[in-house]
Amino acid sequence: MAKYVYDFTEGNRNLKDLLGGKGANLAEMTNLGLPVPPGFTITSDACRHYLAAGVVPDGLDQEVAEHLDALEQQMGRRLGQADDPLLVSVRSGAKFSMPGMMETVLNIGLNDESVHGLAKQAGGNDRFAWDSYRRLIQMFGKTVLGIDGDLFEHALDALKGKRQDTDLDAGELQGLVETFKGIVHEQTGKDFPTDPREQMRLAVMAVFDSWNAPRAILYRRQERIPADLGTAVNIVAMVFGNVGNDSGTGVAFTRDPGTGRQGIYGDYLQNAQGEDVVAGIRNTIPLEELERIDKRSYDELLGIMETLENHYRDLCDIEFTIERGKLWMLQTRVGKRTAAAAFCIATQLVDQGLITIDEAVTRVTGDQLAQLMFPRFDGGADKKKIAKGMNASPGAAVGKVVFTSARAVELSERGEDVILVRRETNPDDLAGMIAAKGILTSRGGKTSHAAVVARGMGKTCVCGAEELEVSTREGRFTAPGGVVVSEGDVISIDGTSGEIYLGEVPVVDSAVVEYFEGAEPEDELVKAVDRIMSHADSVRRLGVRANADTPDDAARARRFGGQGIGLCRTEHMFLGERRQLVEDLVLASTDEARQAALDALESLQKADFTEIFRAMDGNPVTIRLIDPPLHEFLPDIVDLSVKVATDEATDKDRKLLAAVKRLHEQNPMLGLRGVRLGLVIPGLFAMQVRAIAQAAKEVPGARPEIMIPLVAAVQELESVREEAAKILAESGVEALIGTMIEVPRAALTAAQIAEAAEFFSFGTNDLTQMAWGFSRDDVESAFFSRYLDLGIFGVSPFETLDREGVGRLIKIAVEEGRSTRPDLHLGICGEHGGDPDSVHFCHDVGLDYVSCSPFRIPIARLEAGRAALTDSDSDTR
Ligand code: ADP
Ligand code: MG
Ligand code: MG
Repeated sequence: MAKYVYDFTEGNRNLKDLLGGKGANLAEMTNLGLPVPPGFTITSDACRHYLAAGVVPDGLDQEVAEHLDALEQQMGRRLGQADDPLLVSVRSGAKFSMPGMMETVLNIGLNDESVHGLAKQAGGNDRFAWDSYRRLIQMFGKTVLGIDGDLFEHALDALKGKRQDTDLDAGELQGLVETFKGIVHEQTGKDFPTDPREQMRLAVMAVFDSWNAPRAILYRRQERIPADLGTAVNIVAMVFGNVGNDSGTGVAFTRDPGTGRQGIYGDYLQNAQGEDVVAGIRNTIPLEELERIDKRSYDELLGIMETLENHYRDLCDIEFTIERGKLWMLQTRVGKRTAAAAFCIATQLVDQGLITIDEAVTRVTGDQLAQLMFPRFDGGADKKKIAKGMNASPGAAVGKVVFTSARAVELSERGEDVILVRRETNPDDLAGMIAAKGILTSRGGKTSHAAVVARGMGKTCVCGAEELEVSTREGRFTAPGGVVVSEGDVISIDGTSGEIYLGEVPVVDSAVVEYFEGAEPEDELVKAVDRIMSHADSVRRLGVRANADTPDDAARARRFGGQGIGLCRTEHMFLGERRQLVEDLVLASTDEARQAALDALESLQKADFTEIFRAMDGNPVTIRLIDPPLHEFLPDIVDLSVKVATDEATDKDRKLLAAVKRLHEQNPMLGLRGVRLGLVIPGLFAMQVRAIAQAAKEVPGARPEIMIPLVAAVQELESVREEAAKILAESGVEALIGTMIEVPRAALTAAQIAEAAEFFSFGTNDLTQMAWGFSRDDVESAFFSRYLDLGIFGVSPFETLDREGVGRLIKIAVEEGRSTRPDLHLGICGEHGGDPDSVHFCHDVGLDYVSCSPFRIPIARLEAGRAALTDSDSDTR
């Protein structure tokens, strides 16, 4: 029989697939002997079954009942028992943390009888009991019964007036319970369910269902979490932070998740239940102040945090509750952190002897490194600071102020940069948070929803800027000194310092980029990056080259650690004033005229190549001969037609128009381009090869590699190769001759093509385009979002290499190419060369190098190191 329920004593942290992160870690903490309220976990298998079949699997109810019995035994009270009730929470928890995306219901087991029993349990504390009851109806109503949460919020606000929720007395809360029950009846036509076991059963199904809530789906897509994992459900005996001022609830990190700085970091709220801290309902106090309030619990908490860090060997975040001076641990996990913190913490842990430098490399990602390369605000610029909040997620963001998620989405779709400004965010704001450049809130601490989600997304966020009065309804906020900022006004927010400026502040390069540009590492972060990059370089097997067409790019590529150029396009060598020569070439009616145009191009291109070889300083340079169709270099057909229709037209214009018409193609991507040009236009490729050879002779140590684009058949390559080899031999220059593999037929006939090629370079943009039959320029805007919705792919195949299809073609080409020519040199030069997941694929299939844009080189170096250190099937998330 399948087992669907695990007691906390049965699980451990390695069972995340089954128990979800929360359940697995609750079990881990239980087994470490930490104070965790007892409970059990219903597996994500059960959830998947329920979501597929619409009913819970056979045997589940029975198994849950048995575990509940055992829990009741252990606690010495029964669920919802009238005179002395056991209460439980029903909590979601999937394999990957999805903060606040799914549901949790607290205080299950309360009803009109057991509320009195609860009061008695707490020494006659009626206020606490009614507060717990109103919370149950509110959470249950919203999550399980699907009632608009605002209805409850508004009723609570109306009762509170200007007071805080803690100011409400028992009588008022009892009244509120009646009001809430009224809302439930009015909205559902039924009474609030009073049977404790029924409450629990319904809550479990609601948690299952919350896996497919729209915001959860959106979050998964954003974070690339698979859609079919399902969530586990945790049933946990309640402990209470809302019994009075000797109770409370808090959230903490074992180090600063923003900077990595060691030391206590968290928020605490007296006399409150869990959700209150993250929801930013009341303002929290810094965790340090708990020392003054309850020194014993504070010291115990510090001890536990140390235990957890040593045990997990990483930054942990925790959720805890203190019930009348007794500390309870309610959650832990390896904590999300900013990119900067990730690098600092990884090296700190090495220095503390908790992890090896190998592990440190696997603890950071290329995406995080990319974030550190983002620009920041120019320190010297004139700025008009209007307020300061908490530095919740670093970076510099500039944009127009918007006050609603919907508006953020709307403006960003029009291509505008926006800053989403809210009093506090909630999970329904997710779409707007994704759309915005930055997020600014006036309430809530560094562990508030806005802060946690923004850090996870690497988005700039300033939170808890309490000096701001945000009015969503009026579409404006006010800052001290009478500053009024309305929707559409531009502000700049600094997620690193927490500062908020009016207007646009100019941005400058990051310190990490300056380091890659050659600056000495100075601060802790740059030193950490330096150590990790050096180690990644020492362990990686893949080489990293650059896609660089100009001497400037080539020089930057060298500074960033590029070991050569994997793709030097030559198109630009036909542009600008040289278009004239292309026209002459196309119009030439005699061999002499054509040769004159080619000769002129040759000497210009020779100078271009000379500079690039110099910049690359003895490293290989793979030069791709001209690839695009020639009409791209000629005047536009419409402009030309108009001109020819007037009197001003010259004879040349008329001839050009005829040529442009002749060269016009319905589908230029599949037309006369690449190797086909070389075969059809006499002397064109030869001119380029000669220019390369002449340039190489001028630069000692130059290592040109000549790459023929768009080859589909070995015969194409052979005839080009013969001519090129002859020119090279005549010039006394050595160069590899190879081809791009970008047409599926080339991949499928790689064994033959390798006879004529000394290297392959996978042109995965075209290869993806042709393997899928997607015209890149059209499909992405036309229907990719629909395809993503339908789950046809989780991420655009132009962004991350499609392993199954395009990857298969690459594998075939690698294997068959090497079978013909064992020393065949293999690389990739599409956009994918700088994409973390695709770099891992390239490592796995045994390529020799990846080539990417200069700014992606550090990312590729790091990911190549990580690929060498991790199993081939480990994910890079
Ligand atoms: P999320 O995944 O959104 O953080 P949780 O399941 O962790 O949701 O629940 C949110 C909060 O509710 C917890 O941080 C904790 O403070 C409170 N909570 C959950 N279960 C219990 C419990 N058994 N006793 C007391 N508080 C609880
Ligand atoms: Mg939680
Ligand atoms: Mg191509």
